[in-house]
Amino acid sequence: MKIGVLALQGAFIEHIKMLENVLTKKEMSELVDLVEIRQLKDLEGLDALVLPGGESTVQGKLLHDLNLFNPIKELIESGMPVLATCAGLILLAKEIENEKGFHLGTFPIKVVRNAYGRQLGSFVTKENVGTIENYPLTFIRAPYIKERLSKDVEVLSVVDDKIVGVKYKNQIGLAFHPEMTKDNRIHEEFLKLVLENCKNKTSNKLAS
Ligand code: GLN
Repeated sequence: MKIGVLALQGAFIEHIKMLENVLTKKEMSELVDLVEIRQLKDLEGLDALVLPGGESTVQGKLLHDLNLFNPIKELIESGMPVLATCAGLILLAKEIENEKGFHLGTFPIKVVRNAYGRQLGSFVTKENVGTIENYPLTFIRAPYIKERLSKDVEVLSVVDDKIVGVKYKNQIGLAFHPEMTKDNRIHEEFLKLVLENCKNKTSNKLAS
């Protein structure tokens, strides 16, 4: 199994460390190839992708310039699980209220960038994320989800009346940074989703 972390810009190393910890804990390190995605050939045989925080406008432009934009969009649209945090969430959003740059648009939500304002740039709080209780949420110049554009978008987390965590099919989008905490329950959940998806892919193949 191959899990990639987009490594063009931003906090990708933290995601890799977190996934390494989870894989070690579950004694699965041997089974999973963790790779940094920087160029087209890195996408070969990819089963899941993490889109890290950073600067969404820079990441979108780099994806485009490196010809990764369409292949990644197609992989996500064909059901490959993706965990997107902060800038990654902005990249996935179908609509961005205050921005016109490149974005993948696979997630039917409207987001607002830098939504908590500069003076409140970063903060930490605790909230439930789906079935995960009392999770530490770290926000850094975070966006929030202003609107769900499909009834199939599930809300995972709300802070100050704003939606900050969503799931749609195999896409998980978070306005905060789970990779910046010591709590790896979100990455564990993501791994579960990836394993489930791989199992389904194999049984579909066998059935056809
Ligand atoms: N404000 C950044 C953006 O608009 C996101 C911040 C982050 O990823 N921590 O891309």
